[in-house]
Amino acid sequence: MRRVSIFGSTGSIGQNTIDLIKRAPNEYQVVALSGAQNIARLARDAKDLRAEVAITADPTRLGDLRAALAGSGIEACAGAQALDDAASRPTDWVMSAIVGAAGLAPGLKALEQGASLALANKESMVCAGALVKATAQKHSARILPVDSEHSAVFQALIGEDIKAVERIIITASGGAFRDWPMEKLASATPAQAATHPNWDMGQRITIDSASMFNKALEVIETREFFEVDPAIIEVLVHPQSMIHALVGFNDGALMAHVGPPDMRHAIGFALHWPERRKLPVERLDLAALSHLTFRDPDETRWPALRLARAVMAEGGHTGAVFNAAKERALDHFIAGRIGFMQMAEVVEEALTQLSAKCSLTNAEMTLDSVLAIDHLARNTADAIIAKL
Ligand code: NAD
Ligand code: MG
Repeated sequence: MRRVSIFGSTGSIGQNTIDLIKRAPNEYQVVALSGAQNIARLARDAKDLRAEVAITADPTRLGDLRAALAGSGIEACAGAQALDDAASRPTDWVMSAIVGAAGLAPGLKALEQGASLALANKESMVCAGALVKATAQKHSARILPVDSEHSAVFQALIGEDIKAVERIIITASGGAFRDWPMEKLASATPAQAATHPNWDMGQRITIDSASMFNKALEVIETREFFEVDPAIIEVLVHPQSMIHALVGFNDGALMAHVGPPDMRHAIGFALHWPERRKLPVERLDLAALSHLTFRDPDETRWPALRLARAVMAEGGHTGAVFNAAKERALDHFIAGRIGFMQMAEVVEEALTQLSAKCSLTNAEMTLDSVLAIDHLARNTADAIIAKL
């Protein structure tokens, strides 16, 4: 039996992972499941899957979790340290599906004990790519991409020499406001931003899709995962979300990964890698699709893409500033305190202030250094927002 854990099991990626695990219950021993506020779902899944331990990120909910698990024999724990401890338990495969920089520390713990890390939490690579990769290498652990675009690139590169790669194109649906007139964007509401034309995802990543902060994070994630020159990474708006990414080689060939917008493909690929197994995803009828469309992204509409390039040019801890400032700007947008287009302004200003003030590129990267910069960037973003 493979020992598996799912961090962020109550979320969209977590639930899709559980769907796959439940289809072959005899193959997996579930070690840990984690969530935050949805205690009923966490407890239900922990009981269904006979997990060893369930963790809520929120210590004030520990009593509720204990009550929900009473008599089941499943341990109940809470808080960031409990997440790290659970991730340190011997496990073969760990799904990292917490949203935000909070996913970084448990992912590192999983790598330290040699587990294969299925990485949906793109923030880990953006904030601390060098550290995540060095930790994996030191402990001979594997990192498998789960973001659909990165899974697509990973699959297109099987058997290929990365030196022959000329371009990596990741696609973007364009999110909720793809076709809105520019002048309407300033007054877009969180509820409007949280609807996605093709994918069913968590609220935060859905709003990040509308602002393209999600794609900006993914461009940086591409650079970290595949260690390519940022100049060869392109973003292409593709409203149907059927082609997830394309890899262009030096002989002119473009290898595209085509599939329905269902995260169970990328999750299942990471779960079974290096094998391919049957997965419960729709088989495409290309004739019925009739047409796929593409266009270049407009960086006035989506300034996050321009900021991603600046982050890659600087490197080091700049990604941690970018992500943390983005997380705070998103919190304030969701709370109705800033407008949709102000999110990018806040992030840009935080990057400007902190790159002038701190050594973002020279300092050695450790978990502590990343968390310190993350903290500073959150405070900086809050101060910028307070003055708006
Ligand atoms: P979600 O909001 O649906 O779920 C997030 C999970 O993280 C939940 O289990 C929640 O309880 C937990 N969580 C939230 N805050 C936490 C904290 N501070 N500490 C610990 N746990 C916390 O999000 P999602 O859509 O499943 O996305 C999860 C991650 O996967 C994100 O990094 C996202 O960018 C990435 N991702 C998601 C998709 C998708 O299709 N949903 C695709 C690609 C990548
Ligand atoms: Mg993606």
